[in-house]
Amino acid sequence: HSKNTGRNASNLFRDGLNALIEKRRALQADLEKALEQDELELYYQPRTNAQTLDIRSYEALLRWNHPERGIVSPVEFIPVAEACGLIIDIDTWVFREACKAATNQLKGAHISVNLSPLQFQQKDFVEKFETILRETGADPSQLELELTEGMLVEDDIRGLSIMKMLKTLGLSLALDDFGTGYSSLSYLSKYPFDTIKIDRSFVAALGHEDNAVAILKAIIGLGAGLGMKIVAEGVETVEEAVFLRLNGCDQLQGYLIGKPLPIDLVICDAPQDKVAAILALEAQKFTD
Ligand code: C2E
Ligand code: MG
Ligand code: MG
Ligand code: MG
Repeated sequence: HSKNTGRNASNLFRDGLNALIEKRRALQADLEKALEQDELELYYQPRTNAQTLDIRSYEALLRWNHPERGIVSPVEFIPVAEACGLIIDIDTWVFREACKAATNQLKGAHISVNLSPLQFQQKDFVEKFETILRETGADPSQLELELTEGMLVEDDIRGLSIMKMLKTLGLSLALDDFGTGYSSLSYLSKYPFDTIKIDRSFVAALGHEDNAVAILKAIIGLGAGLGMKIVAEGVETVEEAVFLRLNGCDQLQGYLIGKPLPIDLVICDAPQDKVAAILALEAQKFTD
């Protein structure tokens, strides 16, 4: 009897696995067509100056307008694109689109672009990006590449030299999702990052976990000491914004200020009601 149950369970497992593999294969086939058929689109999310609350900076975030499924999240399709290598062409497309925006609708603004580890490993990648900069005429100082800790291994000489070449092109470099990897501190001293993006899990912990205040203050202090710009990701509440402002964080990014939007809809100023709410709570903290 128990043997029978075991077999049923393993059949179920196998069926489930096959369904998953099938779904992934279908997604990959669709994704291959997506680039040619113009189904990919960049959304832009504001990164506001924490002190003035001005918006001069945006992160480009990829969206896939699937003909049947509607908008598919990058969380779902980027792992598939990475597994089949398509991410290289996709990220090249993303960089070109961002460069075009930098000379157009987002002229004068700062734009950050996410980079896949696979792209970072390509031999011709720096040359390719240099060509795109030249062809689009984008000002490299407007563009920042967001890397993650996982892209670099301990004492990564090759990674370091690629980063230096990118900086020579005039691009800036951000360390994304800071605090979620293994060797955060050594990365900061070894590699020439301009910006640290504090992972949103630390911001979300404010008001819920005892250590959140100490950790956030320490990261902001560390960035300031190293001369790096500090961006907080995932800022959703007025309380979080006030805490980060008062503690010297440089930029705020999150749903409070704005969700990622298509380029024609992305607003150029911080929403006045949010700014007023932030300033009111801050004033109250000083009179309390
Ligand atoms: P990421 O680079 O850390 O981007 C931030 C993610 O947090 C975005 O998710 C953004 O929509 C979301 N977010 C922003 N503010 C808030 C907030 O206040 N609350 C919450 N809960 N979430 C917020 P998205 O757009 O789904 O992108 C997910 C990840 O996919 C990105 O994480 C990035 O790692 C990757 N990705 C997106 N676009 C690209 C791309 O063009 N190339 C590559 N290689 N990866 C990309
Ligand atoms: Mg990012
Ligand atoms: Mg991030
Ligand atoms: Mg990320």
